[in-house]
Amino acid sequence: MRYSGWQVLAQGITGNRGWRPAWRDPAPKEAYDIVIIGGGGHGLSTAHYLAKEHGLTNVAVLEKGYLGGGSVGRNTTIVRANYLLEGNSQFYSHSLRLWEGLEADLNYNVMHSQRGLINLFHSDGQRDAFVRRGNMMINQGDDAILLDREGCRKLLPYLDYEQTRFPIYGGLYHPRGGTARHDAVAWGYARAADRRGVDLIQNCEVTGIDIAGGRVTGVQTTRGAIRAKKVAIVVAGRSSQVAAMAGLRLPIESHVLQAFVTEGLKPVINHVISYGMGHFYISQSDKGGLVFGGDLDFYASYAARGNLPMAEHVAEAGMTLMPMIGRARMLRSWGGIMDMSPDGSPIIDKAPVEGLYLNCGWCYGGFKAVPGSGNCFAHLIATDRPHKAASAFRLDRFETGRGLMDEEGTGSQHNLH
Ligand SMILES: Cc1cc2nc3c(=O)[nH]c(=O)nc-3n(C[C@H](O)[C@H](O)[C@H](O)COP(=O)(O)OP(=O)(O)OC[C@H]3O[C@@H](n4cnc5c(N)ncnc54)[C@H](O)[C@@H]3O)c2cc1C
Repeated sequence: MRYSGWQVLAQGITGNRGWRPAWRDPAPKEAYDIVIIGGGGHGLSTAHYLAKEHGLTNVAVLEKGYLGGGSVGRNTTIVRANYLLEGNSQFYSHSLRLWEGLEADLNYNVMHSQRGLINLFHSDGQRDAFVRRGNMMINQGDDAILLDREGCRKLLPYLDYEQTRFPIYGGLYHPRGGTARHDAVAWGYARAADRRGVDLIQNCEVTGIDIAGGRVTGVQTTRGAIRAKKVAIVVAGRSSQVAAMAGLRLPIESHVLQAFVTEGLKPVINHVISYGMGHFYISQSDKGGLVFGGDLDFYASYAARGNLPMAEHVAEAGMTLMPMIGRARMLRSWGGIMDMSPDGSPIIDKAPVEGLYLNCGWCYGGFKAVPGSGNCFAHLIATDRPHKAASAFRLDRFETGRGLMDEEGTGSQHNLH
């Protein structure tokens, strides 16, 4: 069924009896050409582009829980292409262009909203760093505008411009940045992949990876063994655990990141704002809740829940930047597991086992990467050659030290990126 305004009207006047499930619920087959482990944003988008761009449909996505139950449905929904370093800049630019055509491509409303993103800066040094970043964005073909303090005040009049500890000097404005409805992105890709014949298999945990003669031959799952010519690991926070099933030790640590939402309010924040000193960022959802977050919880963990000291830290940063937030009541907080790489940049590469492919290391920035990552990973799996937009995301950079992409300039420590 094609979704459209006419369809909504037709269903509405006929009692909404014609809607069908958005995807099938198939039993796993004994064998596939390609098995994708992980039904998050990256796994589902990989399946979509494999089918759409490479005609590969004998594909299964194996998800241990339900589709979109991982970080793709837990993030703060920010979509942007404001990266500094060669490799990252090209990739996120590619991903943003895919976002801009995504709803038409998927025939699904993912509520992509390019409301503009503003990174505030609070010192001369920070301004210089953002000017450099803005130049890289413009050179890459994306948009960046440097705002002074008065420029910020015009767009964001509710910030506290009188604070003396971290005065607001200005901001780097990225008008094409914004947000999207996170779980709709998972559902849209799932529906599109299913329509092209991909099997989406939920409640199917991969418990082992079969290898014979240095080549992958399939996977063991809680729903039986499945043979496969190629196996792709796309499990975000669980990357190290699943890769260990193939005898690999990945340079990934898993950390918790929390997010928070207030009760629904009338429209008040029209942009995405990130506070350059307090590690705090905020936007307002279409339902009206103020959605915000901060830093990692600072210790490695597989628990998808956070701790109270970080909740306090984030609330303090929010109060410093925009004291009005103190009037809002917080509704919920939650956590997700981040696959942190040592240089803060991802890995899209072949594993050292024939037929095995890796996609991980998205840190806390993998939602905006969903279209680009799936597109480039599908290209790698289908052709055995890296996509040019993701050719820098090599696994061996952590072994050789060549080609590291330390976007934040914080050194090789997983929890600092
Ligand atoms: C609080 C928070 C805020 C964030 N904010 C942003 C943001 O604003 N912008 C941004 O770009 N990014 C953000 N991120 C990061 C982003 O959400 C992640 O980088 C991205 O979603 C990870 O990729 P994924 O969607 O494929 O992961 P997931 O949705 O976690 O998918 C991985 C899937 O693999 C499955 N799996 C694991 N092990 C197995 C197994 N053995 N067998 C079968 N299946 C398995 C899991 O169940 C899971 O569904 C945020 C994350 C969090 C938690």
